[in-house]
Amino acid sequence: MPELRGVGIGLGVAQGPVARMSEPLPAPSDAPSEKTADEETARVREAVSAVARELEERGAKAGGAARDVLEAQAMMAEDPTLESEVDTRIGQGKTGEWAVYDAFASFRDQLTAMGGYLGERAADLDDVAQRVIAHLRGVPAPGVPDPGHPFVLVAKDLAPADTALLDLDKVLALITTDGGPTSHTAILAREKSIVAIVGVAAAAALAEGEPVIVDAAKGVVTTAPTADELEQAQNRADARRDAASAPLTPGALGDGTPIPLLANLGKPGGAAEAVELGAEGVGLFRTEFLFLSSTNAPTVEQQREAYTELLDAFPGKKVVVRALDAGADKPLAFLNDAHEENPALGLRGLRALRASEDILREQLTALQQADAATQADLWVMAPMVATVEETRYFTDLCRDYGIKTAGVMVEVPSSALLADRVLAIADFASIGTNDLTQYTLAADRLLGSVASFQDPWHPAVLRLIREVGDAGRTNGKPVGICGEAAADPLLAVVLVGLGANSLSMAPTALADVRASLLDYTLDDARVIAEAALTADDAAGARSAALEAAATRKKETQP
Ligand code: PEP
Ligand code: MG
Repeated sequence: MPELRGVGIGLGVAQGPVARMSEPLPAPSDAPSEKTADEETARVREAVSAVARELEERGAKAGGAARDVLEAQAMMAEDPTLESEVDTRIGQGKTGEWAVYDAFASFRDQLTAMGGYLGERAADLDDVAQRVIAHLRGVPAPGVPDPGHPFVLVAKDLAPADTALLDLDKVLALITTDGGPTSHTAILAREKSIVAIVGVAAAAALAEGEPVIVDAAKGVVTTAPTADELEQAQNRADARRDAASAPLTPGALGDGTPIPLLANLGKPGGAAEAVELGAEGVGLFRTEFLFLSSTNAPTVEQQREAYTELLDAFPGKKVVVRALDAGADKPLAFLNDAHEENPALGLRGLRALRASEDILREQLTALQQADAATQADLWVMAPMVATVEETRYFTDLCRDYGIKTAGVMVEVPSSALLADRVLAIADFASIGTNDLTQYTLAADRLLGSVASFQDPWHPAVLRLIREVGDAGRTNGKPVGICGEAAADPLLAVVLVGLGANSLSMAPTALADVRASLLDYTLDDARVIAEAALTADDAAGARSAALEAAATRKKETQP
């Protein structure tokens, strides 16, 4: 098995020997307890409280997103519903260990059945259960190994408590057999720029000490690497290090064509880091992330505060805010809590907002008020627009609320195919390549089993993007990219060749993309895009683009 595939997080590449995470504790026996129910309950209460405090302490030490995650995990540990489930089992004469094991497992199954973001929290619950059981048994909780040298950590799925305090001098890369792109391993790896590939089912067979290359940009783990492969990986890691320390110039191609490089953000708090990494504005502010845990719609006041904080961080700069995008991978109970067989094809995005128009109107009110109070250049767009009629509906409504620049996200093939009509109405389009790929290839973006289809290099996706690029040119309207595709340094060049005039991405990807754009002219970008468009599949498009890029570089840099 020379190459194992999964979902790469970020663009890094690393190499080193495997060290495996220790196995979970053996399941407790369900034999009756020899203690009284009161004694068992007291032991469990003490263990749960100790684990919750320990998680909070780890969070305080780690700071950032890790703190929020670990505090949420501590709350999970002390959840009253779980507590009463444990008590019921103890009341039936079971041991504390078994009661915790069984109650947490049944809660876990409920989360898994919900799927999406909540489904991926199931692993967090497992970790809490393991910690409580370890405490009850007086043994250490399973954790990160320490082989005494730097290593590539292989685990089923990492718990937030483990990732939060990873020693980054020792951990060269992460590989998990479970977990998807929204698992905590993925979120924290992104935040800390750890090279990671998740959902590599075949990694279960990797042996302790075995050398591997972890190429997150391609989502590939190479086993038994050759000397040549090791050297190439090292060169790429060095080039990334150089790009990270290069000066923060505005995004541009080698011929000077400006391609503004913008940040994707989910919280105003992320703005300072984005500016530090050279973001020239915001290309996608995901407003739903502010309200994922709310059961009620946020008030105008709450929203105005958040948007004002965001806009204040970018005086004179473009900030594109997306109206609430509820559904499927981003559930918002107050917008749509109906059970749907296929939520990705359901009442989501603009459809859900339209069904609760008051919420959309309140959001536009808050955005207009924040805009009036700040100096940023506010653009507002709708998610999941599928028709010309929806485009007209949204842009008309924005104008009623005094929003000066109103556009749509192109994430559904229908709106890419009708981009000339859509862009005759909207002020701009922003292509969401994550969903556009999901819908073009009919592959659920959250499902590991179809992850190989979820590749924005697929020529079918590229051809749809070209439609939008052409429509932008003929209508004189800007076309941006705000899906993960913009963060792939070579694909970014292809996207510009297809007609994108700005690129928005996770701030940690800005340096690589900035460096890559400088290597090519607009003419080069068009030639490279043309090569990718004529391939049969994603792998073919990637290698055709690589070849065309190498040829253009040779011609211009003898
Ligand atoms: C996308 O679909 O590409 C996108 C940017 O939106 P999200 O990932 O939030 O669905
Ligand atoms: Mg989307």
